[in-house]
Amino acid sequence: MACGKTPQTKIPAYGWQGEGGNTTEQTLQADFSKWKSHGLDGICYNAGHDVEKHQRAAKVAKANGMEYHAWIPAMLHGGMDSTIYAVNRLGQSAYHTQAYVSYYKFLCPNREEVYQFLTSLYGKVADIPEVDYVHFDYIRFVDVILARGLWDKYGLVMNEEYPVADYCYCDKCVSDFKTATGIDIKSFDDPSSCAEWAQFRCDLITRLVNRITDDIHAKGKKVSAAVFPGPDSYAKKMVRQEWNKWNIDAYFPMNYNDFYLEGPEWVGRVTKEGVTALNGKAPVYSGLFICHDWQNKSSIEDPEGHGLIPSEIETAVRASMENGAAGVCLFTPHSMTDDHWATFEKAIHQSYVSN
Ligand SMILES: [Zn+2]
Repeated sequence: MACGKTPQTKIPAYGWQGEGGNTTEQTLQADFSKWKSHGLDGICYNAGHDVEKHQRAAKVAKANGMEYHAWIPAMLHGGMDSTIYAVNRLGQSAYHTQAYVSYYKFLCPNREEVYQFLTSLYGKVADIPEVDYVHFDYIRFVDVILARGLWDKYGLVMNEEYPVADYCYCDKCVSDFKTATGIDIKSFDDPSSCAEWAQFRCDLITRLVNRITDDIHAKGKKVSAAVFPGPDSYAKKMVRQEWNKWNIDAYFPMNYNDFYLEGPEWVGRVTKEGVTALNGKAPVYSGLFICHDWQNKSSIEDPEGHGLIPSEIETAVRASMENGAAGVCLFTPHSMTDDHWATFEKAIHQSYVSN
């Protein structure tokens, strides 16, 4: 145009990325500046529990004008006191026996020691000046029901709650539930029929989230979280996340359609559900799972290798935005091919009207 620039429309966009083994300040700078140039405004970055690595990455993010969300898995731990781990319906502690995969060593969310450990860890990271948000992940129970697309991978049919993956039946949880409701959950043949028991466990997660959130807010920092889609359709039923009751500042639902054997339009349906449940309390950034090796997608057996191909990106972004999302988040920027970036950049530079 002859006179001045056309105002650019651009929707907010984020990425989730974990730190690799060969990361240096130089590789971070190369990655973050590239992602920023492709339209990412912020990064949810997983450097585990390593405070110094978060510090290094947060500085690079800031130098590139990006918001930094320190992404830290919450309930998964290997080396804590064996008495504070979650216990399944068969009486097995997650410390000794795990559902699905060996890293599923989930802590019990009802233990004071677990709260103390987590708030101290998240607090240390929140104290880093360049950290804008701490980002909860795995702040939940073990998946008592797995996403439909994962059944074949683990050789399971999960039409009902799966006792091996149904937590927490530790002495403290069973006894606290009895005190609160008068119900002895161990007397049930089918505990999944007890609505109070499901609610009790959702409340344990909500209380833990809100206690840590209060502590982070007291430090002048914000909290975001990766959550299951829903909350009602999946998150509450699968992992006890009643996330509309959380007091955090931003939500990143993992709207990974391929995990649920759904197409990209489905992302719009679950986005609308979450936005409606929050009723304006906090923004929702719709999490999109990217298929890196997309030209071979049909021959990849593992559904965790599936995800959006370039031609589906626009539909997923549009469905998110037209159903009230504040923006989108990519899992992961490293999985994005040039073809993905091309369709993504087109999609994030359009204006959308929320229905
Ligand atoms: Zn417990």
